[in-house]
Amino acid sequence: MYKIDNYNFKGKKAIIRVDFNVPLDKKTFEVTDDTRIRGALPSIKKILSDGGAVILMSHLGRPDGVAQEKYSLKHVLPTFSKLIGKDVKFADDCMGESAKNLSANLKSGEILLLENLRFYVEEEGKPKLPENVTDEEKKAAKDAVKKRQKEFVNQLSSYADCYVNDAFGTAHRAHASTALIAEHFPDNSMFGYLIQAELNAMNKVLNNPGKPLTAIMGGAKVSDKILLIENLLPKIDNLIIGGGMTYTFIKALGGKIGKSLCEEDKLDLALSIMDKARTQNVKVYLPVDAINADNFDANANTSLTEINMTPDGWMGLDIGEKSIKIFSEIIENSKTILWNGPMGVFEFEKFSKGTSSIAKAIANATEKGAFSLVGGGDSVSAVNKNNLADKISYVSTGGGAMLEYMEGKELPGIKAIKE
Ligand code: AMP
Repeated sequence: MYKIDNYNFKGKKAIIRVDFNVPLDKKTFEVTDDTRIRGALPSIKKILSDGGAVILMSHLGRPDGVAQEKYSLKHVLPTFSKLIGKDVKFADDCMGESAKNLSANLKSGEILLLENLRFYVEEEGKPKLPENVTDEEKKAAKDAVKKRQKEFVNQLSSYADCYVNDAFGTAHRAHASTALIAEHFPDNSMFGYLIQAELNAMNKVLNNPGKPLTAIMGGAKVSDKILLIENLLPKIDNLIIGGGMTYTFIKALGGKIGKSLCEEDKLDLALSIMDKARTQNVKVYLPVDAINADNFDANANTSLTEINMTPDGWMGLDIGEKSIKIFSEIIENSKTILWNGPMGVFEFEKFSKGTSSIAKAIANATEKGAFSLVGGGDSVSAVNKNNLADKISYVSTGGGAMLEYMEGKELPGIKAIKE
């Protein structure tokens, strides 16, 4: 049983792992971006409309096993309750008698939200230790947490009749609520609609893309994207490279990069990627020009030069107009597009145009019939900043999880349900 659509929830209690790890205002604790909460609604609605009851579990932030007011999921309640259009019960501890009683008394059509799972180290299964402990002490502490983790999972699973995983953002973690709990529901574990949609979008790019397929890689470091690039090379036609990682390539090719970001120990790797691309008939496009800054600052002085002519003491922080034009043309002539990572330091207005322009080109290509998948926190926020989310075929909710899946890795949260 893998799919929520094949399951009738009438009279059943479903425990759903959702991703309510949303940003909160530091002072008022109000939810500042409800995208992840909205992403969980279709699965919740399906269960309720079948006549089932819903128990929701999630993490919020990194409380590292210590209950803390600022990480309480109670802050999420008003927004969630408004979006689902119902009152939501709250268990102020995901363990203990009150969560047990609240779930035992939950009726069809009702929703219960459990307090932050990460108030217990058992959720992640890793003890938090001071630095000066011996290896033996480390092992003993780890073993103790693993043992307690079993009891933690036992109790969570005792609340419900079936398990739904709809938290794509944590699917790459082998945690109690994302993977281990599935064992307790061997015939009643399934993916929610959000995870299904994420998998469909990624599988379309990896296994069934319209051609040409263009991958656009940006962001700070080559080292973070190397596994992804290597896994994609046999599948893609074009590889567009932008952002800080550009300069490791440019330096490796003999260009002048000034003070631009560079991973000195990855110069050979950059050349080997270019070589591999050539042998696999992938066209690699590096920026041809850049907007440079005399300082890493939002108000820095700027200069426009060719990409391999960064003046001494300056650093490239965005791609230039010529690069935007070349990249946009390739994107707009593609049938499948994958984008991960900004083209520049888009957080600074002066250096945001390259990233915004790429987002717009992808939206244009999508309008013309291409399939587009955008993932990674920064690319997604650039899409949102430009109000283009509904013009992209699929905007992923999971940065790290998407990266690992597209690298070809098996995600523990996916494997737990498939097996
Ligand atoms: P990543 O998490 O690897 O996708 O990197 C995203 C970060 O890369 C963003 O915070 C950008 O500001 C940064 N970035 C993009 N382009 C550059 C650049 N040319 N120089 C320095 N940082 C950059």
